[in-house]
Amino acid sequence: MEKKNLEQRIEKLLGTRVSDADEQQLYYALLALVKEECDARPANEGSKKIYYISAEFLIGKLLSNNMINLGIYDEVKEILAKNGKSLEAVEEAEPEPSLGNGGLGRLAACFLDSIATLGLNGAGIGLNYHFGLFRQVFEENKQKEVKDPWITKESWLKDTGIRFDVIFGHFTLQSVLYDIDVPGYGQTAVNKLHLFDVNTIDETMVEEGISFDKGDIARNLTLFLYPDDSDRAGHLLRVYQQYFMVSNAAQLILKEMEDKGYDLHRLYEHAVVQINDTHPSMVIPELIRLLTARGISMDESIEIVSRTCAYTNHTILAEALEKWPVEYLEEVAPSIMPIIRELDKRAKAKYEDPAVAVIDKENRVHMANMDIHYGFSVNGVAALHTEILKDSELKPFYDLYPEKFNNKTNGITFRRWLMHCNGELSDYITELIGEGWKKDAAELEKLMDYRGDEAVLERMLKIKEDNKLCLKAYLKEKEGIEVDEHSIFDIQVKRLHEYKRQQMNTLYIIHKYMEIKAGRLPKTPITMIFGAKAAPAYVIAKDIIHLILCLQELIDHDPEVSPYLKIVMVENYNVTKAGKLIPACDVSEQISLASKEASGTGNMKFMLNGAVTLGTMDGANVEISDLVGAENIYIFGKSSAEVIDLYATSGYKAGEYYENDAHIREILDFIVSEKLLSIGDEESLKRLHENLVNKDWFMTLLDINDYIEKKEEIFAAYENRKEWAGKMLVNTAKAGFFSSDRTIAEYNRDIWKL
Ligand SMILES: *Cc1c(COP(=O)(O)O)cnc(C)c1O
Repeated sequence: MEKKNLEQRIEKLLGTRVSDADEQQLYYALLALVKEECDARPANEGSKKIYYISAEFLIGKLLSNNMINLGIYDEVKEILAKNGKSLEAVEEAEPEPSLGNGGLGRLAACFLDSIATLGLNGAGIGLNYHFGLFRQVFEENKQKEVKDPWITKESWLKDTGIRFDVIFGHFTLQSVLYDIDVPGYGQTAVNKLHLFDVNTIDETMVEEGISFDKGDIARNLTLFLYPDDSDRAGHLLRVYQQYFMVSNAAQLILKEMEDKGYDLHRLYEHAVVQINDTHPSMVIPELIRLLTARGISMDESIEIVSRTCAYTNHTILAEALEKWPVEYLEEVAPSIMPIIRELDKRAKAKYEDPAVAVIDKENRVHMANMDIHYGFSVNGVAALHTEILKDSELKPFYDLYPEKFNNKTNGITFRRWLMHCNGELSDYITELIGEGWKKDAAELEKLMDYRGDEAVLERMLKIKEDNKLCLKAYLKEKEGIEVDEHSIFDIQVKRLHEYKRQQMNTLYIIHKYMEIKAGRLPKTPITMIFGAKAAPAYVIAKDIIHLILCLQELIDHDPEVSPYLKIVMVENYNVTKAGKLIPACDVSEQISLASKEASGTGNMKFMLNGAVTLGTMDGANVEISDLVGAENIYIFGKSSAEVIDLYATSGYKAGEYYENDAHIREILDFIVSEKLLSIGDEESLKRLHENLVNKDWFMTLLDINDYIEKKEEIFAAYENRKEWAGKMLVNTAKAGFFSSDRTIAEYNRDIWKL
């Protein structure tokens, strides 16, 4: 397509002049333009294809990122500006699909970008949830969940016309396949994200909040990601979703192989399936079923599929490793149960250890165990995580199959997490070291030459200040919150979970509040920013949100404290908000209990944007620390080895810290003080207090004193602006390793071999 015609093409799509159109019209015109551009491009080809199957793809808004990747972003921006329009305002008109929950789903989205950018023949496969996860709203200082519709008449979805039948125990549903284009950066070819849906879906089923009739599968199947599974119907619905996703995936894969005329006996030479966490695990028995139905023997089908599938483990939290009762699978997907039984029988014949059984004594199918026996690769997502898998969590499997285990440290796409969200820094980097880093992120290392250059350091500080001003304006407009751009922006944004320890950060706030009350004032005011959704049925997580919101209210109304300490909890944290918050961050909170955060990718986004990490030696923080060196990161807390030992020996007793440490006791008791009880809900605050004192499964009190000390240290370091700017620079310069282009190149080199 001729670029010089871009303005005319936009006006043709608009049916009016750019200057006369409103943001909504401009958005639809640009959406159509990008879709036209993608249609005009060929698909990636190759004799082998990677199918990345995932329950989540947290893709975020796509307009600007697609324009960056297609190479038309700057020009469109100029055309709009010339006509008195701003691209940022147009971006506001795009709804954000919440097709993911957190890091795992965002990783899948970054991987699609990098697979396309490396020119690899690949596709993502998932489900088209009409209301996403949920939209979070705050009411009376509590989280409330409502549906989050994102599909408008014109959207990124393209109906492919492809339909499959999926046969469940009691009925059959027909799928509808929608595609979303995935252009790579600087590439001519385009990949696809395939999202399956049912044509019988009924959005009107959802009345109040996010509740609906869980039994009516034909009408509810793709309404929500991770529907409530606190009862049997909810569990069954999740199994229905999973089987629907993988049956469609398996049928699509075999159709593509047959269309190309490939010999299914050699499926593994033409297709590789990456199973993202355990949700897509049933693709293994489903592929075996379809191959046997085509006349291939059971023995050979198992062999073929085992050479085709690879599994990524994302967590060592026991509650996240899925185990489905045989009875549920019998009801939902009876046609694969004989195959799962066969897989179990074969595993048991070879290995006696009950820890590696596919079906356990309680008649539950262990999805991860099936993946490991019947896949050719098992990878962890950061160096430490993979070591923990090998040494403890999956040790019985590592002893059986050491050759299957490998590490692939997670990454992020720099197109979104620097070029798009932080244009000013991105342009300045290009001014200093040229364009090369956009294709080869390792080139960011060239920035190290400027560590002692005062003008460069000044400029880094100026850019951060500009980004803080942008965030200030955004928070004012979107959340009605006023922040001080001269304060330290200390940010913790991620899903709410006890292992991520937002509660520890909150206890620090109470500590600081008491300090300020006692007249010990911070040199520079502090703005503590949170953003987090809690799973709807996760009571303690919601209690933590409640505590944060109550403290926000308390401090906002206290003129003694509010000039020095401000709490902001942004509503409905998502990819768009991440893109606004991260470039403005000074201190990045990565404070999970060591051994529990498999990798983290938020940590990488912050580092790339010149924030300094305050963190534990967990997940990819370990690799960040190795790269930037001890002077450029603030590490505290017990090591993963110590933590694993404490779990093994039941050596941690929260109550002992509460009894023996007067300061900890004072902080904790503030949760149930008159001041907070007069603002918040007594039941919720008391439950949280009780939990922290008597249970505290993720060991908040173990590290709290270390944390307070280290946080004071990082805030003190902030005062030396020149040295701080040096730390910022080193963090950005060393972030190249965390490009998802590097991660995907490693997946391809070691696992996919396209
Ligand atoms: C990157 C990202 C995450 C993951 O953050 P972690 O700190 O690694 O848990 C979650 N949600 C959104 C919206 C993200 O962009």
